Amino acid sequence: MMAFTQPSKRGQWVEEKVLGSGGFGQVVLWKNEETGNFVALKKCRVQSEMTQKHRERWTLEVDIMQRLNHRNVVAAKDVPPVLNVGVGELPLLAMEYCSGGDLRRVLNKPENCVGLREFDIRCLVKDVASAVEYLHSKRIIHRDLKPENIVLQMQEEQIVYKLIDLGYAKELDQGSVCTSFVGTLQYLAPELFASQKYTCTVDYWSFGTVVFECITGFRPFIPQVPPVTWHREVCKKSLDDITAFYNAEGVVKFSKKLITPTHLCRSMQAYFEQWLRYMLKWDPKARGGGLSEGRPQCFKILDTMLSIKIVHILYVANNQLLSYPLLDNYSLQALQQNIEKETGIKFRDQDILLASGASPDPNLGAQQCWNPPGEEDWVVFLFVKGENQGGGSQRNKPLPPNVQNIVKDSKTVLPYNEQKRAWAEAVYFCSQQVVDFRRLIQSQRAAMLSLLRTNSSFLKMKNSMVSICDHLLSKMVYFKECLQHDLEMYEIQKSNGVHNAEKVVAKWMRVGEEIEVHRNLKEKVAKLDQHSIALQTKIIELQKSPFARAKQNEVLEELEKKAVALYHDLRQAGKGGREIYKDHTPMVQIVVKCLITRDKSLQDLYTHLGKICACKHELFQLLPSIQQCSKQITDATGKLLQSHKERQSDIWNLVQMAAQNGISRQDSKGSNSASSWGVSSLESMKVCDDNRETVKKVDGMIRSLMEEQDENMSMMDWSFLPPLKNNSS
Ligand code: ATP
Ligand code: MG
Repeated sequence: MMAFTQPSKRGQWVEEKVLGSGGFGQVVLWKNEETGNFVALKKCRVQSEMTQKHRERWTLEVDIMQRLNHRNVVAAKDVPPVLNVGVGELPLLAMEYCSGGDLRRVLNKPENCVGLREFDIRCLVKDVASAVEYLHSKRIIHRDLKPENIVLQMQEEQIVYKLIDLGYAKELDQGSVCTSFVGTLQYLAPELFASQKYTCTVDYWSFGTVVFECITGFRPFIPQVPPVTWHREVCKKSLDDITAFYNAEGVVKFSKKLITPTHLCRSMQAYFEQWLRYMLKWDPKARGGGLSEGRPQCFKILDTMLSIKIVHILYVANNQLLSYPLLDNYSLQALQQNIEKETGIKFRDQDILLASGASPDPNLGAQQCWNPPGEEDWVVFLFVKGENQGGGSQRNKPLPPNVQNIVKDSKTVLPYNEQKRAWAEAVYFCSQQVVDFRRLIQSQRAAMLSLLRTNSSFLKMKNSMVSICDHLLSKMVYFKECLQHDLEMYEIQKSNGVHNAEKVVAKWMRVGEEIEVHRNLKEKVAKLDQHSIALQTKIIELQKSPFARAKQNEVLEELEKKAVALYHDLRQAGKGGREIYKDHTPMVQIVVKCLITRDKSLQDLYTHLGKICACKHELFQLLPSIQQCSKQITDATGKLLQSHKERQSDIWNLVQMAAQNGISRQDSKGSNSASSWGVSSLESMKVCDDNRETVKKVDGMIRSLMEEQDENMSMMDWSFLPPLKNNSS
């Protein structure tokens, strides 16, 4: 197809390359050297051999294209005058150039051998549906929808799919019978094939067929059989069958479900199965589901299913991806109840973590666990509280059946199509291991971040406990010293004649002994502190693990690449009718290596995950002891201060009694003689002053202790805390 001559040049326009070539047309890319603009020019290659009918058809395509204006239909442009044809020749069709190539090229990529990724399928289906609905609204039927006639264009950093080639399009008003079809038959609706009357539902069949192929990597109904056999067999399908294939005995089997594996999550898979049942109905009248409020049902369903928010949850222990559609105001509780129903993990034992390691807020809906579909594979993680996560027996996924067969018997040569399918599933298996591993690494990251979050709250509590315990101990020392001082003072006052205070003093001494019991809190705190230091060491060790920095498993990625390359070679050779691999040995070797690497890597990763979860569990188990101990310290401090105050009050009472005694004596005798307490009122005033001083001191000391405690909290090092990642929910 490539021209080996010098590239043509006309004015500022240079011929770049041939984009494609079909029955009559050839599409050539031209570039304007001045402006850098491109134009794709479709011209008729075989004008002389064309019948009048074909000439009309050609002119009609150009005519229709120029009247259309839709984001998902390739835009017609004005033909640059220097490139235009002469009078009498068939007109050229100038189009915007879509640099992403056509969908066939995408489907041919070996990594897409079992279908496209979910995100790409969503975009494609939305765009093509929009284009088809638009054409039908303009009373135009495309009639030749197939991967070759869907091109890709990058627009605002997004791939936009566009329909081209309206060469077989018909305007409905021009009559409804077609007898002149010369296109690819594989995507044609059965009634077109049989030259029956047809309507716009022929495009539904082709669209459904294309989407099925994008999901699975192959066409739905016994591909590769000649049209007559195809028609004879497929017409037997029941209403809801969406695929037909030959079983091992060579008998045609039908199914209402998609053949796995696919890259769709299970919710999306179920929606697409339902939708394909509408699109692939044999009966043209029933196809598409008829009209609902003036709009074809199939487009309505598609809009609804693409707008449903689906939460993806990785059940870590089982390495299993769960998905739940969020229907109206779905609460977090409802989501968790569904998880409980499905996995058997009790609501209270579920530890759901967002990618940031944060737990979802129970007051917000389940929506916070949802991320808009995108290139990135966004999931939340389900752990089981307090459990070692490695227990799941299903965590090592089995080989797909066709791959199992070639692994068991790598020497038996299979027919090319079967070999291609088995190898495609082998490629899928290898890439699935890469995806799974990457997800598990993400789950590890979330678990680690959650551990650090828990640890930071834990440390805050633990440090506060240590600090209030230190304060309690210094308060006790102070209390003791004051008590000692008061007792000594009492002894002096006693020799001065103070009496009647024995009872009070005995109480002081009893309290003094009682507070000794608080000393055991020191030991308790020390034990908890030690335990927590040991835990900190473990956490630091976990952060040093290679998994903490890993993003993927390079060995698995390498094996995936090799599998893709092998499959590519097989396809290339197959196209040329050559045979390069006599048996499955090279592919089986890769699959087995992948299996061994996967098993070993998962073993290590789950051990590491288990340690993280065990640490978090240990933190949670230690927390109540710390809370309890802190409460005991606070209570003890309260009691101590209370006892101190009581003693102060006792002294004040004594002073008051002494003062009253002194005054009454003074009043009755009019003299300054000593009271029965042996204290003059002057002296008692001094005692009052002393005590006031002491109370002030105690207050000041308590205040400074409090301040010191606050300062301790704010000086704590929080740098180990991970920066909070915003989870767009
Ligand atoms: P016909 O079936 O009418 O003879 P055809 O199949 O040869 O036409 P098209 O389908 O229009 O012609 O184009 C052929 C191929 O050229 C496409 O499959 C696609 O790969 C490429 N192509 C066509 N138009 C464009 C475009 N605007 N931008 C990029 N590639 C294009
Ligand atoms: Mg074409």
